[in-house]
Amino acid sequence: MSAAPIVFSHRHLLGIEGLSGGEIASILDLADRYVRQNRQIDKKQNTLRGRTLVLLFFENSTRTRASFELAGKRLGADCVVMTTEGSSIKKGETLIDTAMTLNAMHPDVLVVRHQDSGAVNLLSQKVNCSVINAGDGSHEHPTQALLDALTIRRRKGRLEGLTVAICGDILHSRVARSNIHLLRTMGAKVRVVAPVTLLPGHIDKWGVEVHHDMKRGLADADIVMMLRLQLERMNGAFVPSLREYFHFYGLDYAKLGVAKPDALIMHPGPMNRGVEIDPEVADDIDRSLIREQVEMGVAVRMACLDALARHLPNLPAGMAK
Ligand code: ASP
Repeated sequence: MSAAPIVFSHRHLLGIEGLSGGEIASILDLADRYVRQNRQIDKKQNTLRGRTLVLLFFENSTRTRASFELAGKRLGADCVVMTTEGSSIKKGETLIDTAMTLNAMHPDVLVVRHQDSGAVNLLSQKVNCSVINAGDGSHEHPTQALLDALTIRRRKGRLEGLTVAICGDILHSRVARSNIHLLRTMGAKVRVVAPVTLLPGHIDKWGVEVHHDMKRGLADADIVMMLRLQLERMNGAFVPSLREYFHFYGLDYAKLGVAKPDALIMHPGPMNRGVEIDPEVADDIDRSLIREQVEMGVAVRMACLDALARHLPNLPAGMAK
């Protein structure tokens, strides 16, 4: 595949906030090309040949980690995966010490997931390589928003003018934050639907419509995006019981009935079936895009790596003349 021109000149990808509509569209266009390539038998390219990609995961992950690794390998990079289990992070090494140690091995791109908001940004200031945020606390998860946008754009042909309802645990969700930035930048109308306890205090400043009732929030929506209750980020009870939560906020066919007849369902995973979504709705092959989101994840991560690689130096920092 020949190098497609791209409007993206950042050294790091730390969040969607701050990216322009042109930059987002450019990554999505490039990702579209990788979707086609990933559906062929020979999926391998030399774009990142000779480059080293390190995945540093301080928090659990299935989709994000596997798809970044696959993306790196398909572009020809050498990939190393480091997780909390089996590394010195377990022995108490600090985030910065771990990053500096890895930095000394001259990686070209570091993909980092961390439980603290802002940790990936901090780390990016200490290393010489490019850094991609694979999710930091409840702050941002930029590649998730990009893959969601690609999935929507391929199905609906556009983002502009669509009504997207994001439902559930908005308070703890980095997916919600990144998606809100992206969708608003691209001209979509965003609604959030959640109980008061699962909304941030300053939600009125986010430029979204706020609803506490699913039937109102979903009325005439084009896209219904469900979020997981992030129990690992909660200290205390945010909902009376999971059963009651499902009754009021779980997506079932009755609630979906008020959305547009061709409304599509999304979920970033992992899903809690029977908590935020009825299993039948999640598995509805005509309405649910959940599997497609996973496929788009690999293509979007290839596009992000490709875009960043175009600005990588040809010699490790400190060795360049
Ligand atoms: N996988 C997404 C994330 O890492 C969503 C979730 O965990 O619920 O934020």
